[in-house]
Amino acid sequence: MEAIQPETRPTRILIAEDSPTQRQIIKSVLTREGYEVVVAEDGIEAVSLAFSEIPDLLILDIDMPKMNGYQVCRLIKDDYRTSHIPVVMLTGRDQETDKFWGLKTGADRYVTKGFQLSGLADTVRDLLADLDVSPRHLKHKPGDYSGDGHKELDVLSRVNDLLDRKLFEATVINEISKLNTISEDSGITISSVLSVIAKVTDCYVGTVLLLEENDMIVEVHNPVGREFFKQSQKRAIDAALPDMHPGAKSKQVNIITNADPGFIEGENEECDSIKSILTMPLNARGKPIAVLTLISPRPDAFPEQIRKTMELIENPASVVVDNARLHDGTRRLAITDGLTRLFNHRHFYELLENEFQRTNRYMSQMALIMIDIDFFKKVNDTYGHPVGDDILKEISEVISREVREVDVIARYGGEEFTVLLPQTDIERAKAVAERIRSAVEGHSFRTPEGKIKITISLGVVGFPACPVDNQMELVQLADAALYEAKKKGKNRVVVARYNDAG
Ligand code: GH3
Ligand code: MG
Ligand code: MG
Repeated sequence: MEAIQPETRPTRILIAEDSPTQRQIIKSVLTREGYEVVVAEDGIEAVSLAFSEIPDLLILDIDMPKMNGYQVCRLIKDDYRTSHIPVVMLTGRDQETDKFWGLKTGADRYVTKGFQLSGLADTVRDLLADLDVSPRHLKHKPGDYSGDGHKELDVLSRVNDLLDRKLFEATVINEISKLNTISEDSGITISSVLSVIAKVTDCYVGTVLLLEENDMIVEVHNPVGREFFKQSQKRAIDAALPDMHPGAKSKQVNIITNADPGFIEGENEECDSIKSILTMPLNARGKPIAVLTLISPRPDAFPEQIRKTMELIENPASVVVDNARLHDGTRRLAITDGLTRLFNHRHFYELLENEFQRTNRYMSQMALIMIDIDFFKKVNDTYGHPVGDDILKEISEVISREVREVDVIARYGGEEFTVLLPQTDIERAKAVAERIRSAVEGHSFRTPEGKIKITISLGVVGFPACPVDNQMELVQLADAALYEAKKKGKNRVVVARYNDAG
């Protein structure tokens, strides 16, 4: 068997075991199998030999003096020169917690000591058979390890470094996990995730593209040029393309940018081109939900060490991002009307109150349109309630097409709608109302018995054209105007007069 192996040196196994009897038994079992065996009597010696000999396999007792098997295993698995070496943990105990902790340190197998050491020989054979003789494996020749004179100190300082780094990683993970409860707004939560990441990386622009929503949150952490900023967005979208839904690829991505004023400057000599980029999909419930991208104008801004940290962050960051967007989804359900997908009555009042206050504060203008379908009872009576529902949906679409992005449409009641028009004077609002009326009148609505025509009546009120004290008075005035429109024969727009209120 040895003869057909590409390497000439025999397979070498390092055993770390403090009990002389056990050591002898294990050694003879493995020697009989044809392996070359090196032994260490404690944990420190095991680490030293692992680095100086680079064995093909490592067998570690858990309870050893100076440093236990777990610690040895962590060190070995943490160093690029030795991380490929398969590790078998040996213990006299057979406790689940031992197994758990052993595997958490990166050990490959776990063998309970006892009389069946034949089990050990099988395990060793299995592990060695799985081992590919990869270039990475051959690259690190024995003897890389400098520090023969101060073996013990050297190993201990390695332990310190490792502990320090693990503490750092745990702290970063904790910082990210804490964001789970930070805000109701997914945009704020995701920005905060990017801010924590920016604290530990040399990232200038960080993005999270939400695949389901086609939204991309962009955080700018350091001043960059306008061109750099533009390129960053493009590269981040390109990086997410493989994970995007086929339907979304061609659609525009909604970009939400968070940057300090002055962070995106016209020109920035230092930061004019992208030199480093790191992309990481965030997965939840078995599928990618977002793609995170970090961008820097510095070369090699995301070295191996940072990539490792990012791998650790992936899980907690995915959980936080997923929760944030699910929360948004739940909220969306709470504020929309199930039939028309427009905002519901309750949310309309929230938005109206905000808009009224804002208009007052900035001494701006706003308007409100109240809409009621004419003779809708007859539609229901003639075609049935389900057809009535379809028509309500269709009418909401017709109205939506006639207003601006910033205008808010809500289903106010059964067959009543409202349109809130920020920063709009009464003349323009009246024109919008007329446009909506005419669009509905001109539309043909489908019923099983052919197309039908429907009309609406509208009441319009403007503020401060009507100098009311609160938003409720605005609603009353719009209602009164609508009533007037009905009284005057329907299918028309009426503008409220201030003395209508009282
Ligand atoms: P008017 O021109 O005076 O507005 O007369 P109208 O027939 O529209 O009467 P009114 O506004 O008083 O009545 C509203 C009708 O709308 C009553 C009800 O049958 C119907 N309606 C309300 N909500 C819904 C709904 O969700 N689905 C359906 N299909 N019909 C609804
Ligand atoms: Mg009505
Ligand atoms: Mg009606």
